[in-house]
Amino acid sequence: MELEGKKVLVRVDYNVPIKNGMVEDDTRLRATIPTINYLLEKNCKIILMSHLGRPKDLLKEGKSFEEAKKELTLRPVAEDLSEILGIDVGFVGDCINVDMPNDNDVVLLENLRFYEEEEKNDMEFAKKLSLNGDIYANDAFGASHREHASVSTITKFLPSCAGFLVEKEVKELSKLLNPEKPFAAIVAGAKADKIGALKALAKKADKILIAGVLANTFLKAKGIDIGASKFDEETFSAAKEIISLAGDKLKFPVDYVVADKFDNNASTQTVAADNIPKEWMALDIGPETIESYKDELKDAKTVFWAGPLGVFEMENFSHGTREIGEFLGSLNAVKIVGGGDTGAAINTFNLADKMTHVSTGGGASLEFIEKEGRLPALVALERAYKKAKEE
Ligand code: ADP
Ligand code: MG
Repeated sequence: MELEGKKVLVRVDYNVPIKNGMVEDDTRLRATIPTINYLLEKNCKIILMSHLGRPKDLLKEGKSFEEAKKELTLRPVAEDLSEILGIDVGFVGDCINVDMPNDNDVVLLENLRFYEEEEKNDMEFAKKLSLNGDIYANDAFGASHREHASVSTITKFLPSCAGFLVEKEVKELSKLLNPEKPFAAIVAGAKADKIGALKALAKKADKILIAGVLANTFLKAKGIDIGASKFDEETFSAAKEIISLAGDKLKFPVDYVVADKFDNNASTQTVAADNIPKEWMALDIGPETIESYKDELKDAKTVFWAGPLGVFEMENFSHGTREIGEFLGSLNAVKIVGGGDTGAAINTFNLADKMTHVSTGGGASLEFIEKEGRLPALVALERAYKKAKEE
C-alpha cells in the first residue's frame, strides 16, 4: 500500500474490560502498537475504530440509550492508549459524520455498536464509516469472525489491507490447520462457543483433553451423575455427536476437586469423576487427572489450548489450570492458546512468553479452526484485494 501521508482508518478490537472508567487489561491495546507505530513512521493520520460490549443488551435490560452510552463509551480507552503511545490520542464522540481534530495524529472514534447498523453489516453505514479515511486496515482479529459493517462491507468502499496483528494471528493460527503431529487439543472453560471447533478438532487432532464446565456437560450426556456441577443443557446433543465423531480421542477427567458451594472458602474434597456427591460441584480437575493429562501431552508436537480447566480465578480451584499451563510451557512443541479467560489465566500464571502464540481472539480463534481460516472479515479483505489487483 502507498501509505505516505494518508488518512488510514484502522479497525481495532479494543473491546476491553473497563471498571470505574479505567482499562483493566490493556493486552488488546498493546497488540495493535506495531501497526500504529508503522503508520506513524509513514506520516499517516490514524483513525481508530472499535466496538465495546453490547449496548443492545443494556437497552434490553431497560436502560436508556444515554445510560448505555455512558457505560460503554470508548473514552477511557483513548486515555489509556495515550499513555501507552506517549502521545495524545484524540477522542471523537461519534463514528460517522465527525469533525476530525487537526492536532492529533492518532484519533479514536466512539463505539461502533452505538449504531445498530454496525452489526447488521449495513451498506450505507459502511459507506459513512469509509468517509473517515483514504485507506482501510483491519487489525481487529478478535472481531474478524463477525459479518459486521466495520470489518466486512467497509472493504467495498476503500483500498483495504490487513494490519500486523491480523497478519500475525493468521500466520500463527494457520499452524493448527496442517499441524505437526501428534496434535493435542485441550478444550475446557465454560462457554458453549467451542462446539464448532471441537467438531473440526475431532478430525484433525490426535487427542482432545476435555475439562471445565464442558467436561461436566459431556459426563452428564454420558449419563454420569455430576451432582450440583454446572453444565450446559443446550450442548447435550452436540456433545453426543462429538463423542461419536471423536471416539477414543476424547479424554475426560478421572477425578475432581468438588466443593459444597461456589466459593474459594468452600469445603472441598477430591473424588472420582463418577462419584460426585449430590449437592457438591466439580470446580477443578483432580491430581490423577492432572498427571494423566500431562502424560497425554508429553509427546505432542502441536498443542491448542482453549478454556481454563477449572475455576482458576479462585486459588483453591486453580491447580489444574496452573499445572497443565506450566507443563505446556515446558514442552518443546508449537503451543497456541485462544480465549479471553484462558489468556487471563496465562497472564495470572506468567506463562505468556513460554507459549508460541496467545491469540487476542476468543471466538475468532475457534472459528478460525472451524472454518479452516476462512473467517468472514478475512474473506472480505481477500475479495477486496483481488478486485483491486484486477482493476
Ligand atoms: P475462554 O474465555 O478462554 O474461552 P470460557 O469463557 O469458556 O473460556 O470459560 C472460562 C470460565 O470457565 C472461567 O471463568 C472459569 O472460572 C470457568 N470454569 C472452568 N471450569 C469450571 C467449572 N468446573 N465450574 C464452573 N466454572 C468453571
Ligand atoms: Mg470467556
